[in-house]
Amino acid sequence: MTKKGKHTICIHEGEIKDTQFGGAVSPIFMASSYEYLDADPMRYPRYFNTPNQEVLGKKIAALENAEAGLPFASGMAAISTTLLAFLSKGDHIVLTNEIYGGAFNFVVEEFDKMGIEYSFTDGVDVADFEAKIKPNTKVVYIETPSNPLLTITDVKAVADLAKKHGLVSMIDNTFASPINLSPLDLGMDIAIHSATKYLGGHSDILAGLVAGSSAHINTIFQKGKNLGGNLSHMISYLLERSIKTLALRVEKHNTNAQAMAEYLEKHQAIAKVYYPGLESHTNHNIAKEQMHGFGGMLSFELNVGIDAVSFQKNLKLIKPSLSLAGVESTMLQPAITSHALLTPEQRKAVGISDSLLRFSVGIEDVEDLIADIEQALKRI
Ligand SMILES: *Cc1c(COP(=O)(O)O)cnc(C)c1O
Repeated sequence: MTKKGKHTICIHEGEIKDTQFGGAVSPIFMASSYEYLDADPMRYPRYFNTPNQEVLGKKIAALENAEAGLPFASGMAAISTTLLAFLSKGDHIVLTNEIYGGAFNFVVEEFDKMGIEYSFTDGVDVADFEAKIKPNTKVVYIETPSNPLLTITDVKAVADLAKKHGLVSMIDNTFASPINLSPLDLGMDIAIHSATKYLGGHSDILAGLVAGSSAHINTIFQKGKNLGGNLSHMISYLLERSIKTLALRVEKHNTNAQAMAEYLEKHQAIAKVYYPGLESHTNHNIAKEQMHGFGGMLSFELNVGIDAVSFQKNLKLIKPSLSLAGVESTMLQPAITSHALLTPEQRKAVGISDSLLRFSVGIEDVEDLIADIEQALKRI
């Protein structure tokens, strides 16, 4: 059978047929105990493979063009389990310098104790990755577009490098979502998602998803059983429901963010805009080549003299709040949140100015978002 389109996969892939009542949606199976006498002991439903969990594994596998997938209780459960599934004492990993704060903390706070070595790249050029590879390197880990500066890594170049050196390649594909980037098609081994973001999409659930080959997913499943980061049946159902509109939502996030980025770039009160869909973006050409859409995340710097906190307080529609990727637009100032513990000098070194704002562009009418920014700037 020919492969179905992304919207169809979002709605139907993996769904459980309600043979008892003929209902239109997957029933929720609440059991945590199942009959075992005639069951395959390897497939006994308990960990990561209860009926509602399996829906999600099948859906993310189809969306990522992978053989298999697994759900987790959070993005961090997915990341930590996947990393530990492929790294043991004495091994080494190369990671992009710009990764999600929680993943960064996990590596620097836990790996030393476990005897796992790590190196962060200096930038995103493939040469930066190659220079860090050592004889005991086992894994290369990237995240693109990055948070909060939307830096683009050449996914195929890193995947090719990993293949050349026999490394397992992993990507945190949260920011792009499987709709805007298909890393496995570009040669990556494993795609990881915080489904708390676009896959969930409504700022009300925590979940994680992983996709890869059957062999890799089985390795992660074995580690997951030891670590225990299972997703509940109720949240599994809510995530299945959310993913039904994923492709539709992401298309609107893409057009809204492109329009916002173009509007902000022309605005006299804005010093700089970071959005991979702008020709002014450093890696626009790579983004154009490897992404199906440029995503809903952008960052911008206010002109010197405009106070970022006052600006955010003036907003009436766009919510200054943590997290991202919901249907509603939200804004966050990294200097006083995610990067608050760095000194101003350290922030400057990683390109985060005090007036930088990260904007998760929602799916409202873009005219209303522009009007909100206009009025907030006028009242300063
Ligand atoms: C939020 C986020 C995570 C962590 O996910 P949780 O579901 O909050 O544990 C990982 N990676 C990226 C890029 C994120 O934005």
